[in-house]
Amino acid sequence: KPPQFLSNPPLTLEKNSVSVPPESQNFHWHGFTQMADFQNIVIERAEGCWLTTTSGQRLFDGVASLWCNVHGHRNPKMDEAIRAQLDRVSHITTLGMSADITDQLAERLAEVTPGDLKHVFFSSDGSSAVEAALKMALQYWHLKNQTTPSSTSTAKTRYLALSSAYHGDTTGAVSLGGIKYFHQLFAPIVFTPVRGPLPCSYRLPDGIRDATACDYYAHEIESLLKQHHAELAAVVMEPLVQGAAGMITHPAGLLARIRELCDQYNVLMIVDEVATGFGRTGRMFACDHEGVTPDILCMGKGITAGYLPMAATIARPHVFEAFLGKSSERKQFYHGHTFGGNPLAAAAAVASLDLFRDTQLTETIDAKSQFLRECLAPIADHPHVGDVRGRGLMVGIELVADRNRKTPFDSDRLIGRNVCERATELGAWIRPLGDVIVLMPPLVASNEELRFLADTVTRAIEEVL
Ligand code: PLP
Repeated sequence: KPPQFLSNPPLTLEKNSVSVPPESQNFHWHGFTQMADFQNIVIERAEGCWLTTTSGQRLFDGVASLWCNVHGHRNPKMDEAIRAQLDRVSHITTLGMSADITDQLAERLAEVTPGDLKHVFFSSDGSSAVEAALKMALQYWHLKNQTTPSSTSTAKTRYLALSSAYHGDTTGAVSLGGIKYFHQLFAPIVFTPVRGPLPCSYRLPDGIRDATACDYYAHEIESLLKQHHAELAAVVMEPLVQGAAGMITHPAGLLARIRELCDQYNVLMIVDEVATGFGRTGRMFACDHEGVTPDILCMGKGITAGYLPMAATIARPHVFEAFLGKSSERKQFYHGHTFGGNPLAAAAAVASLDLFRDTQLTETIDAKSQFLRECLAPIADHPHVGDVRGRGLMVGIELVADRNRKTPFDSDRLIGRNVCERATELGAWIRPLGDVIVLMPPLVASNEELRFLADTVTRAIEEVL
């Protein structure tokens, strides 16, 4: 059946050719993209896990439209829910009122998120969900400790973030970030967090083994908490997998240990599930793998199954209740977005949760993940494949110059990019993170489609290396 996937005139991308972009491409300035050698792929329509370009090529959506598509494109139930909401109301503000569908969604999110997470604050993208969490944590301590704005220098106003963290591209999120090219340049306009280690299971420090890695990193983080807890509002982290860092997997058990440490040192725990939420790792939320309930959880991407922009920050009752009081006390959360809680997006999100419930999609992910790993097993032995890692359908293949020493390639060689471009020519649209090849298909991808993805990537790696 695979040939049926591809009704191509083949796609050919010119390699690394620097030129003035064609006039028509200048209007649309693409993020994280060198426009001088950008070869646009224009998508006209999509269905299931497949994108069709304006010139008729079909491409497998190997990164789920930037890690957010869940039930495939043009899922009839998703489309229908959005159309039905169009006939009711498209947009109203959430300052002072709400759409019934948005209230319904808040309740449904409280049901599917871990533990007693309950109070949902809506925004429009993952970065904004993180910004809301940062401000929520800071205002929480301000209200709890009754600090005045002028006394904040001695209050809990800082954050602990992990090395190579990625929490988005707005200024607060960039402050937390620790990825050289994404974040370093913006240092003059951001705050400085207390920087924790990168708990990387692939490159453990000398003398640390898998069995001792969790203890080692927990100890490192505890040392920082001992020193800084009085000034820390929150620890902010991606759970289990640091996606944009290159699908870096944390040692098992670390998330639960950090939860304990946050309690012990009286610091809030903010978990950023923007990438890992909504079934991606094989549980509804990655926190569910370790039975962790953070004080605040950020979600985005998969919340509307990738159909419309929406994100949310959900808090536990003790956080929410700190903001309650008489209007004259001015304890309300000083934050809000024009499009937060948009009813069309809320309708998409409710339809997606219905689909999760009716298709039991999350329960299928462990088996799909294992199947994908089996398909990738032959390429895992390639002399330039250092590591194949991830959780669920969140997979990274790290390409290295020297497998035994785990030495990276010279970054100027753009190995990851070349592999992804070749895979795209062969029919699977994927994007690298440096030399880590990212596979994040829509969660509904069939085994046959997962095999196509794995075979295409395997062939691309073999041809480039
Ligand atoms: N947090 C994490 C963990 C992410 O992976 C991302 C995006 O990749 C974000 C936040 C930012 O989300 P958005 O691009 O929707 O602003």
